[in-house]
Amino acid sequence: MITELNTNDIYNIILHAYDLIAQNKDYLTNLDAAIGDADHGINMERGFNLVTIQLKNINIENTDIGTILMSAANTMLATVGGAAGPLYGMFFMNMATVASGKREIDLKTLVAMLEQGLRGIQDIGGGTQPGEKTMVDTLYPFIEELKQQLTNGNNDIYIALDKALKAAEKGMLATINMMAKKGRAIYLGERSVGHQDPGATSMYLILKAFYDIVKNKE
Ligand code: ADP
Ligand code: MG
Repeated sequence: MITELNTNDIYNIILHAYDLIAQNKDYLTNLDAAIGDADHGINMERGFNLVTIQLKNINIENTDIGTILMSAANTMLATVGGAAGPLYGMFFMNMATVASGKREIDLKTLVAMLEQGLRGIQDIGGGTQPGEKTMVDTLYPFIEELKQQLTNGNNDIYIALDKALKAAEKGMLATINMMAKKGRAIYLGERSVGHQDPGATSMYLILKAFYDIVKNKE
């Protein structure tokens, strides 16, 4: 049973997220080619690569989770073009604010971090809601399932993430039948229907990184 994540776990999650994004770089770019401008995989791989390089300058043993996430946020904001840089930049920055000074977090704090991260995406995205064919369609059901787990009295992060990732995957796949209401894909109107959203897919990979590292720890 895993009830806490520490600084090192969060560090490993970000490194693993980079691996998953690098492995899926062409896939993400191809998804973006269908309804956007074919740069999402390139943006994300480049950004996360720089995030991991910057993180290697930090003494992980001697720092808190907020510092790690703030470093990731600053790199995304400073180096990634397109919509994804500011969106993921704010996601990490808002999570960092909640995790500031903390070297360990429980499920309740993880939920608070993700909720604040979602708010960051929504703020910078113009009030993005679920159903608009974006990364929010993956993140929102993930958080809702984690909250449900807390309500049920479950504090086991592994079990909670296992259920939440399945909800996130459903949310990601549901973007296929949605018409875009936010982002570049808006211009396609009805023609955006039938294609999975690239940002919903990269968000799934990032959330999967949480699950994979916690599974490994278990
Ligand atoms: P760009 O569209 O500028 O080329 P990317 O291709 O890197 O940027 O990222 C596109 C992804 O960003 C979309 O698939 C979508 O998930 C996400 N996105 C775009 N606009 C918004 C928004 N307003 N709110 C939330 N997510 C958004
Ligand atoms: Mg794009």
